[in-house]
Amino acid sequence: MRVNIQLQCTECKRRNYATEKNKKNTTGRLEVKKYCPWDKKHTLHRESK
Ligand SMILES: [Zn+2]
Repeated sequence: MRVNIQLQCTECKRRNYATEKNKKNTTGRLEVKKYCPWDKKHTLHRESK
């Protein structure tokens, strides 16, 4: 089962990415290191609703 989620930058709190995850495989909150155009560097992005 796939759900759409948004990835929020943990530094500037902006939502930069939309993706989807598999609820069966991913338990808890998804955390990914991605490039933030606002911070101009790679930051940790966390799933937000
Ligand atoms: Zn940011």
